[in-house]
Amino acid sequence: ATPMSIMVGVGRGAQAGVLIKNAEALERMEKVDTLVVDKTGTLTEGQPKVVAVEAAQGVGKDDLLRLAASVERSSEHPLADAIVAAARERGLALDEVQEFDAPAGKGVTGKVAEKAVLVGSAAFLESRNVAVQGMAALADDLRNDGATVVNVAIDGKLAGLLAIADPVKASTPAALKALAGDGIRVIMLTGDNRTTANAIARQLGIADVEADVLPEQKSAVVARLQNEGRVVAMAGDGINDAPALATADVGIAMGTGTDVAMESAGVTLLGGDLMGMVRARRLSEAAMRNIR
Ligand code: ADP
Ligand code: MG
Repeated sequence: ATPMSIMVGVGRGAQAGVLIKNAEALERMEKVDTLVVDKTGTLTEGQPKVVAVEAAQGVGKDDLLRLAASVERSSEHPLADAIVAAARERGLALDEVQEFDAPAGKGVTGKVAEKAVLVGSAAFLESRNVAVQGMAALADDLRNDGATVVNVAIDGKLAGLLAIADPVKASTPAALKALAGDGIRVIMLTGDNRTTANAIARQLGIADVEADVLPEQKSAVVARLQNEGRVVAMAGDGINDAPALATADVGIAMGTGTDVAMESAGVTLLGGDLMGMVRARRLSEAAMRNIR
């Protein structure tokens, strides 16, 4: 039978917007010494917007955005939504895409109006033999401001960059401060470029950053920390990180994220406020104190 104090803890959590799925999650929470936190949608709002369109010489900005958005229309990634919204705001008519593909954590590809279009990370374009050096300095300037840079290639040549910004959630700084006060080591995890990740981490005072991590590698990062003897909570929105949520000692789903996140996690934070992690630890400590 579940001890009364656990049931009380679960009930108090629910009142505070912290949904605790089972006794185990509540019991383990007080032992957590490390929080791995996904950047996009967890530390940030998760509603990115295109803030700059930079076309290569001889390419029109509208053409660049129209071709990129025509391919991204078939993707469900938050970056894709931002690109399609930017094209619509400019009143651009999108074309049909053929041979669409979306390698996870890399980008999208397709044929639009007989042109081969690649949209994605610099590493992805390079892996398809597109040289990105021509605009690399500009890309790094944008990344140093905290923007995610998406590269666009047309017919095998770099055609431009889209800078996409996703503001830090208003509740994030205070939550990180409270977690640091509790002696929790916070590690940012992201598939984004290291320069962008470092810029956001600097804003937030996070010292540990794991960047350029492909979706299938995210749970390995959690497992590695566990092997080092750490008790790991992982917070994410379920876009690419559901296996990592399931691997962690305590998975924490952002209630603003996907259903699969909530299924994979022991704890769900309604409203996606990371401060709920601090509350969950307090509830865990109180419940376990009563049991002992
Ligand atoms: P995160 O860890 O921030 O959730 P992802 O693993 O989803 O990031 O993506 C990693 C990187 O891959 C992105 O920063 C972007 O450069 C690229 N990428 C992924 N999906 C897309 C897409 N639909 N369009 C363009 N780029 C993408
Ligand atoms: Mg994500």
